[in-house]
Amino acid sequence: MSKFSSLEPKRVFEIFEEICAIPHGSGNTDAISAYIAGFAERLSLSCIRDEDNNVFIKAPASRGFEASAPVLLQGHMDMVCEKNSQSRHDFKKDPLDIDFMDDDIFARGTTLGADDGIAVAYILALLESDHPHPPLECLFTTDEEVGMEGVKAFDFSKVSARRVINLDSEDEGVIYVSCAGGMRSKLTVPLKRYENSGVHINIIISGLNGGHSGDMIDRYNANAIIVMGRLLHFLSKQHKFHIISLQGGLMDNAIPREANCHILISRSNSGDLEKLIAEFEKTIKNEFSANEKNLMIYCENMGESTEQVLKPRLQERVIFLLNTVPDGVQNMCVDEKQKGLVKTSLNFGIMRLKEEKFELEAALRSSVSSEKYALSDKLRYLVESIGGSYGEYGDYPAWEFNETSPLLNTLTSVYEKLYKKEPVVKGIHAGLECGVIYHNLKPVDIVSFGPEITGAHTPKEKLSISSAQRTWELLLSLLEELK
Ligand SMILES: [Zn+2]
Repeated sequence: MSKFSSLEPKRVFEIFEEICAIPHGSGNTDAISAYIAGFAERLSLSCIRDEDNNVFIKAPASRGFEASAPVLLQGHMDMVCEKNSQSRHDFKKDPLDIDFMDDDIFARGTTLGADDGIAVAYILALLESDHPHPPLECLFTTDEEVGMEGVKAFDFSKVSARRVINLDSEDEGVIYVSCAGGMRSKLTVPLKRYENSGVHINIIISGLNGGHSGDMIDRYNANAIIVMGRLLHFLSKQHKFHIISLQGGLMDNAIPREANCHILISRSNSGDLEKLIAEFEKTIKNEFSANEKNLMIYCENMGESTEQVLKPRLQERVIFLLNTVPDGVQNMCVDEKQKGLVKTSLNFGIMRLKEEKFELEAALRSSVSSEKYALSDKLRYLVESIGGSYGEYGDYPAWEFNETSPLLNTLTSVYEKLYKKEPVVKGIHAGLECGVIYHNLKPVDIVSFGPEITGAHTPKEKLSISSAQRTWELLLSLLEELK
């Protein structure tokens, strides 16, 4: 008998252990999808497995719940594959080496995939149990962790439920009620170059905190690309220089921590440059004195050289753009229930200078779609006004807050009855599958909750056993109330 059989709820943990034995990283979901579909077959439940490996199972209502409206239970079956540098784990074929100690379940050397394997275990354990529930529709999606591809491809005409419980949250005691939608923007300015000579200087900005552009945008950390734009503007007021190359950031959804710019400057002005850069560094350090303790701006003299540099008028446009694009938090929620939540933001995450064009890429987010599109239009106007072009990519919808959600009211009262305290109700400034579900099923009532998981997406991921137990109780009690 497995060691996990000693844990309660027994079937939830036994099924979770079975899931961990099946490799199920994003993009590798054939086996896990077949396992879930096989489960439904064994229970003689109606089941559809689509081309993207999403699985949709329907279960009839328990006795006494026949007249109730159906409920959609949802979680994703894929997991993030991260391991320690010493680990020899092969995510394509090896079962996870899971164990538990005290209150934690973990996997040796790798991610655990409780995000979101625990949701799969909950739903399957519920389907084979005799706990009372309304008619159930259960959606197990694929590739959530790599752009929510499964849920985006799923045919929602199969779904009749307009009450949805998403089980992909990781903070016990928190009920999520909204999420931001988003898109990626690309601003391009065409360039021309010519040959020039002078002292070649490399200017470097580094040591910034960075962070995820969704949930960390309200830390107001410095954006290396925007800081570089300001530095170039500051220098251009004092001296003439010529840009050779310019780059910063790695991903549109990460706040960039580094940027650098290669320039040519005359020998007579090159000595002064170091002083000006030091002066600018002091100004920026002062502005960010609370949060950017390790910010550094410095330059390296690479000696005299001849280079292809930007034509002056075009260089001006690049500096203009870097100093006029909005960046960071644009708007906060002001309604009582969502106070403190970022409503609209953008992050310029990538800057690159190619032979004949300058490119900036941003991640835009908003919990209100119209604000997202208005912000996108602002960027379009700006770049087009200087002869550039604009593109929008990967648009995904928001899950908008429903102030009068009956599902939230029921869940809140069930929670209060069980734990004698109020749950935290909040939105999240990042994308969730709930946004896609909301967009496809609206008008629809959605809540999201889950057990305490720490260190998700890292080899330190842990699932709290007692929290998983309580969340199971909460789910069962909620379903009992959804007559
Ligand atoms: Zn997840």
